[in-house]
Amino acid sequence: MNLVLYAVPFFLIALLAEFLWGRMKGRDTYRLADTINSLQMGTLSRLNAVLGIGIGGAVYGTLTNQFTLFDMGTSDWLVWVLAFVAYDFCYYWSHRMGHEWRLFWASHVAHHQSEEFNLSTALRQTSTGYLGFVFYIPLYLLGFPPYVIITVGSLNLIYQFWVHTEHIRTLGPLEWIFVTPSNHRVHHAKNPEYLDRNYGGVFILWDRLFGTFEPEDPERPCVYGITHQLASWNPLWANFHVYHDGVRDMLRTRHLADKFLLWFKGPGWRPHDLRDEPKPDWQAAKYDPAASPFARAYTFVQFWIAVPASFAVLLGGLDRPLTLAAAGVLTFGFYVQGAWLEARPFGAKLEWLRLAAVLGLAAYAAMTTGWPVDVSFALAGYVAVSASCLLWAARSGRVSLEVAPGSMPAQITAGGSRP
Ligand SMILES: [Zn+2]
Ligand SMILES: [Zn+2]
Repeated sequence: MNLVLYAVPFFLIALLAEFLWGRMKGRDTYRLADTINSLQMGTLSRLNAVLGIGIGGAVYGTLTNQFTLFDMGTSDWLVWVLAFVAYDFCYYWSHRMGHEWRLFWASHVAHHQSEEFNLSTALRQTSTGYLGFVFYIPLYLLGFPPYVIITVGSLNLIYQFWVHTEHIRTLGPLEWIFVTPSNHRVHHAKNPEYLDRNYGGVFILWDRLFGTFEPEDPERPCVYGITHQLASWNPLWANFHVYHDGVRDMLRTRHLADKFLLWFKGPGWRPHDLRDEPKPDWQAAKYDPAASPFARAYTFVQFWIAVPASFAVLLGGLDRPLTLAAAGVLTFGFYVQGAWLEARPFGAKLEWLRLAAVLGLAAYAAMTTGWPVDVSFALAGYVAVSASCLLWAARSGRVSLEVAPGSMPAQITAGGSRP
């Protein structure tokens, strides 16, 4: 039983509580654009389930039909405890390879791009985790029932939520056994001495055992993010930039072996003939384009409409063409929100295009009776209100999407984002 979706409301309440706590204590760890970007990544990681292109389930099914070492039931508590520990062991190796091979880093990088560290960072998840299932095959071969594996897997992920905070410093003896906010901060830090450390999900014991543990040193405060900063609020680029850069390096290097090897080396590894290129500055200033107050407010509202809409599409039981079309419009919407937060001049045009697409979707659903006609009317009303806001913004002349005069321009992302 996958418990993650059920936990989402509690995640959001905890996120709000952490935000208010930070405000009260004068130590706010949230930035609007960063939080929206992280939550977009979390929503997209769930929404992409509508594509149904994961092969993990099929492989597991075939394996358990052919061969299992032990016959285990779901009613024995020992099976559950062993599965929980064994899952975390597999998670450790999956996570470690997620950092040590570019092939897996290309997917896992999605969790690490934030330059802040708060509960929204925990929800920052990949949409391309199609290969990670291979690390859990031993659990199926041992004979743990799939129901048990999926349940303990979701409990493992839920556990990892609370450790993404700066408000809890250290937890005494618990630091020895468990993944905690302190040792997970080190995992998210890009300080050279903290790189590739603390891979555990629930137990930090694996890191102590396999030599990848590093404690947090108060003298060396964590600097969060990836070495070569993403410098973008585009959630699609965030999911694909490492693949893009890997293919680009494959094409550029003249060393035949390196074209292949680069996917099985660390993300900082360079092909032999590309090693003279300048190294990224891990201490670069945080990415922070100055979107206008209107752009920020409008995006904030649109984002919080798109999140429940995404879950409605995910759980709504619509027919496949309508599900795919709705998920496509929502995904485009997240991209447009990113463009607004980046203060892109073309953001407003894209938003008009998106509203037209929503209207088209509402009409299509009404004609095919894909959902109750009231939903289409509600969507038309939503488009009318959004369009009125846009028109008011354009005509009032006091608000603009673009960068305020004299402030920092949006940074260009096309130069690549090698970690
Ligand atoms: Zn990681
Ligand atoms: Zn994390």
